[in-house]
Amino acid sequence: ALASPAGTTWVKSVCRYCGTGCGLYVGVEGGKVTAVRGDAQDHNAGFLCVKGAALPQIMGAKDRHLHPLVRRGDKLVRASWEEAMGLVASRFQETIQKFGPDAVGFYGSGQGLTEETYVANKLFKAGIRTNNVDGNPRLCMASATAGYVGTYGKDEPMGCYEDLDHADVFFITGSNTAECHPVLFRRIVRRKERGQDVKVIVLDPRRTATSRIADLHLSCTPGTDLAIFNAMAHVLFAEGLVDRDFIRDHVAFGEGTEVNRALADYEKFLQSWTPAEAARLAGCKAEDIVTAARWFGARGRKTTSLWTMGLNQRSRGTWANQLVHNLHLVTGKIGEPGSTPLSLTGQPNACGGVRDGGALSHLLPYGRLVANDQHRAQMEKLWNVPAGTLQPKPGLATVDLFRAMEEGKLKALYVMCTNPGQSLPSLERYRKAMRKEGAFLVVSEAFHPTRTSELADVVLPAALWAEKEGVYGCTERRYHLLEQAVKPAGEARPDFQILCDLARRLGHAGLVPFKTPAEAWDEILTLCKGTPYDFTGMTRAALKESHGLLWPLPSPGHPGTKRRYVRGDDPFVPADHPQRLKFYGRPDGKAVVWLRPYQPPAEVVDADYPLWFNTGRVLEHWHTGTMTRNCAELRQSQAEAVAELHPEDAKRLGVGPGDQVKVTSRRGAETFQVSVVEGQRPGSVFAHMHDDQRLCNRITVDAVDPVSKEPEFKICAVKVEKVSAR
Ligand code: SF4
Repeated sequence: ALASPAGTTWVKSVCRYCGTGCGLYVGVEGGKVTAVRGDAQDHNAGFLCVKGAALPQIMGAKDRHLHPLVRRGDKLVRASWEEAMGLVASRFQETIQKFGPDAVGFYGSGQGLTEETYVANKLFKAGIRTNNVDGNPRLCMASATAGYVGTYGKDEPMGCYEDLDHADVFFITGSNTAECHPVLFRRIVRRKERGQDVKVIVLDPRRTATSRIADLHLSCTPGTDLAIFNAMAHVLFAEGLVDRDFIRDHVAFGEGTEVNRALADYEKFLQSWTPAEAARLAGCKAEDIVTAARWFGARGRKTTSLWTMGLNQRSRGTWANQLVHNLHLVTGKIGEPGSTPLSLTGQPNACGGVRDGGALSHLLPYGRLVANDQHRAQMEKLWNVPAGTLQPKPGLATVDLFRAMEEGKLKALYVMCTNPGQSLPSLERYRKAMRKEGAFLVVSEAFHPTRTSELADVVLPAALWAEKEGVYGCTERRYHLLEQAVKPAGEARPDFQILCDLARRLGHAGLVPFKTPAEAWDEILTLCKGTPYDFTGMTRAALKESHGLLWPLPSPGHPGTKRRYVRGDDPFVPADHPQRLKFYGRPDGKAVVWLRPYQPPAEVVDADYPLWFNTGRVLEHWHTGTMTRNCAELRQSQAEAVAELHPEDAKRLGVGPGDQVKVTSRRGAETFQVSVVEGQRPGSVFAHMHDDQRLCNRITVDAVDPVSKEPEFKICAVKVEKVSAR
């Protein structure tokens, strides 16, 4: 912490919002957070977007939750910590004794600190002995994870933000980067502003703020990007833009779940995926697909792909991810500065705490799997618990977790730092499940009421961001230490402290004996050693001195790793670089190009529900809006969700700007004001997810990807009816 002459103390931290992980300093005066400023030495070069800049306002927000609440009949009433925690512990204990460990679960968040998520994961998997530990990253980046693991044998991107400064071609697909990752988008805009010869291809049904800088905007019928990716690969082969030496040395081919195909099979598979066929399915121009492929594969040019929820939140999200990896692998545009696939992450610590830390129902820490005997044995040894403690069957992934609650099989759920009462698909179904007779719902939250806390039996006041310390890990494998800047408001406590208290009350104090998050971090360092994530050298002291460090970082003093896999012919890479020519994590050292056909979304438009429905985000708000709606400036801008319609659809429906319409799917309906938007694709409707009154997830479908289990928030079929005029 540094004291400025004006009396403000500046404490090093990181933004509380998106997975870009912008470094910043928190300004403290008189024990209160009064300002933030971007960290000029971090990757964001001192820049923050509007959300980051407004962070101080969330600290004293009117909805801050300041003391424990317990349910008495229809009401949540104030209680002491002792009463609330006693109730939580006794209900969990009783449920476990009566119905077994799998009758309870934990639902966490990519917003929790790594040490908090770690304590929960260890307590539930090794203490209570259930694998029912999942979290909102399942709704966000599970398909990206499945894509990386299936393709390279390891999770997480190989590239870094610096690649945005080296790329000549940007392939942005399923991402409104301008609004959802604005500080990264600024880096691309800067390249254009400087007159550099960069091309931007945007593949998105909508014309968005991102497509405004596109040299080519490919608008497609929702879900048909699978056909377009294959058609691009078709063109790359047809026009000799593939790197056959690279393919020979570094690529294997697979179909289904087996790596059992050859290059010739793949070329044969691609024959039918002509640009004309993809254009027919996608409702776009074949020549635009050809242009996109030519730019992507141009010789001597570096290509970076960026994507996020548009690919991930799909019933074939894993395939969509893998098809983008295919394009990089057949062209060899990977593993060198400026050429990389780089999936963007939604939350500040989805990567570090949940994905890397193994806090999903099928995972154990640092790349280990619940279903793998050796991995369980390793973790039992590292955690010093008897052999056989860890259960071999994966727990329930998010949608199944709440379905189990609906069925009465999951009887007690602890929700930390997230808002499933607003963010789950097919929402009313699962809101009912959370209120089901006999179900016990605990919510640890910094704000109240939320659409989840209003359903809870116990609402614990959680410390917020600058009121606690711990590690966040962002998109590019960069870990940051957030230092505590101020004391928690009211009676709020850090989730780390609350979870350690719960562990003690449940008789598992020995498992989580930590007095501080720093002690838990020391234990975490022992778990990653020797794994692909190895950040053993990332001590608390090293993190404190740094502006974020990128793993692998296997020993003290190691500088960290910007690119995990590097090309042997890369002039940026010294000859003795440890990763030189060691490309991939699979046993044969090769990455896999998968043969994946186009498959329609889980629900398609028909005569009854003739319009596509798409959900997403806007610049000023974040997730379910519990924080951003508490900032005056942000609340004034787009806090209310509207139904965005193309002028042709608005005319056909007889509605205009400001009219009220009901958007109905097979699962539910919501009423929105109309916004007529030229950039909306005809035949489709868009609404954002941030509004806690107009709940777009009443409409969405809970179909999930069979591999990643991520729901298809991005596509379903609806009808739109006029309710009233403006
Ligand atoms: Fe925060 Fe993301 Fe904005 Fe950076 S881009 S300031 S991490 S919300």
